[in-house]
Amino acid sequence: MAQIRELLGGPPTLSFEFFPPKSDEAARGLEKTVHELRRTNPAFVSVTYGAGGTDAHRTRDLVVDFTQSHPFPTMAHLTCMNHRRADLVALLEDYRDHGVQNILALGGDPPADGTPPSGELTYASELVELVRSVDDFTVGVAAFPELHPRSENTREDRRRLAAKLGLADFGITQFFFDAAPYFRMVEELAALGCHAPVLPGLMPVTNPASISRFAAMNGTRVPPGLWARISEADAEDRLEIAMEAASELGRELLEGGAPGVHLYTLNRSDVALRVAENLGFVPAPG
Ligand code: FAD
Repeated sequence: MAQIRELLGGPPTLSFEFFPPKSDEAARGLEKTVHELRRTNPAFVSVTYGAGGTDAHRTRDLVVDFTQSHPFPTMAHLTCMNHRRADLVALLEDYRDHGVQNILALGGDPPADGTPPSGELTYASELVELVRSVDDFTVGVAAFPELHPRSENTREDRRRLAAKLGLADFGITQFFFDAAPYFRMVEELAALGCHAPVLPGLMPVTNPASISRFAAMNGTRVPPGLWARISEADAEDRLEIAMEAASELGRELLEGGAPGVHLYTLNRSDVALRVAENLGFVPAPG
């Protein structure tokens, strides 16, 4: 099976993010979602990792299952804060031994209760180096077009991001709703000599309450016009608005040279499938 780095640099890629389900019913729902999204021929999919390693086994089991049962590569998210080096190495060796070849190396977040983070690694760049020391994985990293909330200023954020991307194969961004900061970030990275592909992450806004919470956590600006339309709409109209807004943003990004789009699916297929269709990723039937 191809590694993700071999697929970047060609035609724009489509990829999907899933989270590990917590019940049998949710697992059946995800199976259906993946089955429906398979017709888009995704370049790859990724599976999130619970904050600080909570439910790490669910991520591991789903990544191994996907790798062994689907034709597309699967990338395991992995965070390093609050982890021991030996535990991270053991998990990476387990992935390697089960044919998993793609890791999204992340810093993770300090505990929500304000206690200082524990563990032997602090930053994602240290995890990239650890992943590389275990095997020749494709390594992705996170990027924040509107700056990481813990960054002091744009200069430091971009300098560290360029250094991190220099160790990795590619980046995926936090979700955002306005293309301008993405293109600005790409230019700022290029000015630092960094030309690694950075896939924009698209999150269709289907649930205003959770988007508002995620956006506040990640420093993402929700355009007031989109926010007003979403908050006033009923559930059915909301889906249409979410799908249209994500398609419009995806088109602008691809036309402006983005190397692909990464869709945050929240484990549902309806909106992701429509967005993929609107962006021309779904082959015509027959
Ligand atoms: P880092 O690259 O370590 O950066 C974090 C902050 O530290 C930045 O401000 C950076 O500028 C600063 N920094 C970096 N290096 C240094 C240094 N040497 N000295 C001082 N400051 C430094 N979280 C999860 O728990 N599970 C997931 O599955 C998950 N998936 C994600 C997927 C994507 C695409 C994205 C964008 C985020 C994801 N996250 C996930 C969230 C992520 O773990 C957090 O946003 C975290 O706060 C930052 O991760 P990072 O990899 O950018 O960290």
